[in-house]
Amino acid sequence: MIEANPERVLRDLHCLRGIGAFRTGVHRPTYSAEDMRTRHWLADRLAALGHAAEIDGIGNVLGRAPAKGRIVLGGSHLETQNEAGWLDGALGVVFALEAARAVAEAGGPGGVDVIAFADEEGHFGSFLGSRSAFGAVDEATLDAATDRTAGTPLRQALAAAGLAGRPRLRLDPARYAGFLEAHIEQGGSLEKDGLRLGIVTGIVGARTFRIACAGQQNHAGTTRMADRRDAGVSLRAVAARLEAGAAALAGPLTVWTIGMMRLDPGAQSVVPGFAEMLFQFRDTDARILAAIEAMVRETVAGADAAGPCRVTLHGPSHASEPAAMDPALMAALEAAAEARAPGMHVRMPSGAGHDAQIAAGHMPAAMLFVPSIGGISHHWSEDTAEADIALGAQVYVDAVARVLAAG
Ligand SMILES: [Zn+2]
Repeated sequence: MIEANPERVLRDLHCLRGIGAFRTGVHRPTYSAEDMRTRHWLADRLAALGHAAEIDGIGNVLGRAPAKGRIVLGGSHLETQNEAGWLDGALGVVFALEAARAVAEAGGPGGVDVIAFADEEGHFGSFLGSRSAFGAVDEATLDAATDRTAGTPLRQALAAAGLAGRPRLRLDPARYAGFLEAHIEQGGSLEKDGLRLGIVTGIVGARTFRIACAGQQNHAGTTRMADRRDAGVSLRAVAARLEAGAAALAGPLTVWTIGMMRLDPGAQSVVPGFAEMLFQFRDTDARILAAIEAMVRETVAGADAAGPCRVTLHGPSHASEPAAMDPALMAALEAAAEARAPGMHVRMPSGAGHDAQIAAGHMPAAMLFVPSIGGISHHWSEDTAEADIALGAQVYVDAVARVLAAG
């Protein structure tokens, strides 16, 4: 058995918590000064461990183990949502760093490469760092990308972060036995069920569409009901049909959300001339995603044909495919969890997106979840009990050791 050092794990996590601290959480948007400090912090630690450490042209931090034999890739991300929690991303990076140290101290077998993928949180795009590392981001995409909060062009942010002109690294899937990512659950299932570890079976795919209605803006007192082309009325009717349609097609894990609705001009005495909404749905089953997408297209086309408003569909602005986790890696995580916390673990899907879903397209990948207190995440109050962090680190190290010994 290779032992993790829980004090060292907690010390590292608290060190990262001090960089960009916001209340009890952190504020480290991608390529901010604080974000870059964490990337250099990690690269320094990996170099001190004897890894070949680099920060590439998109901000990915990679430390390659000098070991012979099987290599596991471990890691997650370091940047955060705005004014967010201290463990989202950092936990998975520090667990991987701990696994690299523990395996090196034990003299193997094999070794652990550690990666912090850039911009998993999507300030400038969708999984830019991990997609870049697998060759799926071209230069034109980088030219066009801007920060969703401030509008800063990505090229400008990369230059300010000292990354302009650096080559972007490419991961070689043939080097790896697999990718293991630890993460906080970001939901309340484990806590509610009194469990301490989740073994992720698959990561949901998602689609987001914008639906726009164009009618005729007019006076709310003088325009008779029969004469109106009220964009708000049309939009609400489409919304009701989409929600009923999704419910009819849903599996047990399907979720759908209208996260934004807007009426224009949005005044009490004006019939809206324009209205729009965002409709998003997620599932681990690609067939359900496809069926709901077809329903959305049909519903919008039908509403447009029926009038009196023009109803149009735009997007998907965000589309990701579901990713199944690797059975052998899941079995290693499960065996490690059962040995350290018998009966306290469960197999579960991930409703949130993670870099592991990008990696899964190129090599075996799996994820380990630890509980989130109150199920809260993407908020500065996000937290996990220290005992759960310590247990998670040990189970992660055990699972990595099992995979390395399997070859
Ligand atoms: Zn995350």
